[in-house]
Amino acid sequence: MAPVTNENPDLQASRIVILGGGPGGYEAALVARRLGADVTVVERQGLGGAAVLTDVVPSKTLIATADWMTIADRAADLGIRLPVDTAKAAHPAMRRHMVDLDAVNTRVMALAAAQSADIHARLEREGVRVLIGEGRLEGPSRVQVTLQEDAAEVSVDADVILLALGATPRVLPTAIPDGERILTWTQLYNLKELPERLIVVGSGVTGAEFAGAYNALGSDVVLVSSRDRVLPGEDADAAELIEGVFRSRGMTVMSRTRAEAAVRTDEGVEVTLADGRVVKGSHVLLAVGSIPSTAGIGLEEAGVRLTPSGHVQVDKVSRTSVRGIYAAGDCTGILPLASVAAMQGRVAMSHALGDAVSPIKLRTVAANIFTAPEIATVGYSEEKLKEQGSKYVTTTLPLARNPRAKMLGMRDGFVKLFAHPEASVVLGGVVVAPRASELIFPITLAVAHRLTVDDVAEAFTVYPSLSGSIAEVARMLHHRED
Ligand SMILES: Cc1cc2nc3c(=O)[nH]c(=O)nc-3n(C[C@H](O)[C@H](O)[C@H](O)COP(=O)(O)OP(=O)(O)OC[C@H]3O[C@@H](n4cnc5c(N)ncnc54)[C@H](O)[C@@H]3O)c2cc1C
Repeated sequence: MAPVTNENPDLQASRIVILGGGPGGYEAALVARRLGADVTVVERQGLGGAAVLTDVVPSKTLIATADWMTIADRAADLGIRLPVDTAKAAHPAMRRHMVDLDAVNTRVMALAAAQSADIHARLEREGVRVLIGEGRLEGPSRVQVTLQEDAAEVSVDADVILLALGATPRVLPTAIPDGERILTWTQLYNLKELPERLIVVGSGVTGAEFAGAYNALGSDVVLVSSRDRVLPGEDADAAELIEGVFRSRGMTVMSRTRAEAAVRTDEGVEVTLADGRVVKGSHVLLAVGSIPSTAGIGLEEAGVRLTPSGHVQVDKVSRTSVRGIYAAGDCTGILPLASVAAMQGRVAMSHALGDAVSPIKLRTVAANIFTAPEIATVGYSEEKLKEQGSKYVTTTLPLARNPRAKMLGMRDGFVKLFAHPEASVVLGGVVVAPRASELIFPITLAVAHRLTVDDVAEAFTVYPSLSGSIAEVARMLHHRED
């Protein structure tokens, strides 16, 4: 087995090997190069990882088309009419724009591949060595790689190893995906035609996003949720609003019912629920969580401690139980977001290479659910504030009261802020609105920098604008000193 030697002997003391080229891995590689290390990234699928190739980028690109359809459905309210022939079509589905799913998916995959290629090129430009292949630990300071190109085996010595292995969709033994009718989210982009009736199993973020998107694209969607409401764990008002929007757009939401099995039939699929009911559809999407890619690659043999769920145990600077081995991203189970993975990877490299480092702070993470409307959150949730017995005040302003929203024909949504009752510091916020992912930023700044509601309220906003509601809700929380 030929060892891969580091080309620059000056950097022998900081040879970094990163397993996994997703956001946790590639961002770390760039930081490590900037700090002068010799860096190798081992990736078996493609640079950008699942985030770019199967998860974030494809889903958000598909949702961009779905968003367009949602807006087009509002066109009549804004005085836009369809051509007379189309408007008179016999079937309701013919009275709106039609989606060519093959074209949509071709665009999705091309965009993902281009982004992956860009990341690959950028890493190589920065001097990172990229090995395409499957990696495994050979003890705490050596990585063995089976190269994809010729199945040759190489081993790379490392002073520091970063595990950025990500996760893959969880599958149920009673619902084995076939890539045609029984699908995980990574297989959706092979579809040439819009599913006639899509059963989505799982109403967490992934299930809700795809259920909303396919409903907007024109599929008849059945969402099977094991909980009381969709999006368990998210802001209750936001989740209730989205469920109402889903139902109002014709989606069937089946709550408090678990899917036990899915099988193919001559016509499509049948999903059996725990109570014995059978739901028929043309396709089923399984969105029942992920499992970390940590099995069978020598982690435990090297002494890396895993949690009972198989995630790598890490501290706030991404250290594992083994000196010199760090971990970042979905394989750690901290918070499954690309932004968090990237931050964990950067923190790991700064720590390993002796640069200034601050432990990761999850309180300031902004997150977004790409439904229509979107749900963006930052800071403490109301549930967390209640759970820890914190004192807080809150106000909610419906989007329907915002002048710009009225002009744009937007009805569903709200802005909600939580603040400390005496200090008036903004503790957290929720925005439910189209493009809430953009609107959350001023609240993120307020949470990150401990601004008060008055600081937010006193800043100018454009009139008319959706962000005006953020200043307005902060104004409503103004605390009068008597
Ligand atoms: C449908 C969906 C939509 C999402 N949308 C968003 C979103 O909008 N915003 C957001 O912030 N997050 C989103 N997420 C979450 C986001 O995708 C993850 O948090 C992110 O990908 C984590 O990055 P990572 O680097 O840990 O792992 P990944 O992106 O999974 O990358 C890990 C890489 O490691 C490689 N690898 C694993 N084992 C080995 C090995 N032994 N050898 C070599 N290579 C290996 C894998 O092939 C993979 O490419 C979404 C997730 C899903 C499922």
